[in-house]
Amino acid sequence: MSKLQQTDPEIYALIQAEEKRQTDELAMIPSENIVSEAVKEAVGSVLMNKYSEGQPGKRYYQGNGNIDAIESLVEQRALQVFGLDSKDWHVNVQPVTGSIANFAVYAALLSPGDRMLAMSLYDGGHLTHGWKLPDGKPISFTSKIYDTYFYNVDPQTEVFDYAQIAKIAAQVKPQILISGGTAYPREIDYAKMREIADSVGAIYMADVAHEAGLIAGGANTSPFPHAHVVTMTTRKTLRGPIGAMIFASKKLLGDSVAEKIDFAVFPALQGGPQNHSIAGIGVALHEALQPEFKTYAQQVVKNAQVLAAELKKAGFHVVSGGTDKHLILLDLRNKGISGKDAALALEKVGIITNKNTVPGETGKPWNPSGLRLGTPAVTTRGYTEKDMLEVAKKIIATLSPSN
Ligand SMILES: *Cc1c(COP(=O)(O)O)cnc(C)c1O
Repeated sequence: MSKLQQTDPEIYALIQAEEKRQTDELAMIPSENIVSEAVKEAVGSVLMNKYSEGQPGKRYYQGNGNIDAIESLVEQRALQVFGLDSKDWHVNVQPVTGSIANFAVYAALLSPGDRMLAMSLYDGGHLTHGWKLPDGKPISFTSKIYDTYFYNVDPQTEVFDYAQIAKIAAQVKPQILISGGTAYPREIDYAKMREIADSVGAIYMADVAHEAGLIAGGANTSPFPHAHVVTMTTRKTLRGPIGAMIFASKKLLGDSVAEKIDFAVFPALQGGPQNHSIAGIGVALHEALQPEFKTYAQQVVKNAQVLAAELKKAGFHVVSGGTDKHLILLDLRNKGISGKDAALALEKVGIITNKNTVPGETGKPWNPSGLRLGTPAVTTRGYTEKDMLEVAKKIIATLSPSN
């Protein structure tokens, strides 16, 4: 980065400092990962100089031959990674973030005032699936536009209670049923969710923002055989740059869904796509197609399971009793320490985590009772089970009352 160092030594120094922090500390936030040098090169490329509003082959600006070729290739790889046929599935790789991808689905398939049913934020749901206070005040913009309802995990087992979800769905009669979250450590029964959606004539959207890479690598089950729509971020377990993708089933929703999704992304919500990020997503997808990525995805889950087992042995309340994925949620109420204090204490020893709400939360979102831990980034750094035992020791020692 010699040019940057010359032109802007201040920003250069801060980037250097961040690179050092990322090397010295352990990123254990489940939504974070470490992209390859190849992904970085694509994202830092001249592609960001080009405006390309529209879709491949249908742009509002001239000079987009190369951009068209790149975006088409990325779409093709996206379908390939998840084993999909372009006859059956439409994909849009332009959403700048997972949040915008979700809004684009709503914009494409719902009308303002329509009913949505999704997992409660406190139980691990996502803000874009809607959130409002008990007095009805909308916190998420989704809840301003749509009539939002929520399901909870079972208070005892802390996993999905499909009978309960079906019951709420029958009462609410949502136009869209959503699964997926930021802090739900278990696999979701996508077939069951689709069945519930079908029973009330709802569209079923699986938001696999967190699990995308685990699904691509075969370590988690795929929602594609069941969902009408699948959204995902590209930066989490998929290990690409910041970005997102929307997949819509033409088989279930008709061929016209393609145009609806594309129109919702542009011109309804976005302007010119981030061509450099889209190329970076393409590189990450190419990496996800290699055999090593399968090994990676499986190791991510193994590492999380070893860590969860060690924490459980040490008397921590691991929400749902363990994990099927890359993330662990601890309910710290039995340890007499808040999520915030735990995250601060761990940061002091170089382990970067985040405070989080838990099922049956009694605290506030800015001072919740839980701590969220994840293994995607440490696994990218080559950590295996034996390293996780060391990490577990350090976490347990740091969060023990004597400290
Ligand atoms: C991370 C996440 C998103 C949003 O992704 P951003 O890129 O941060 O906007 C959406 N849904 C779920 C379930 C997520 O975990």
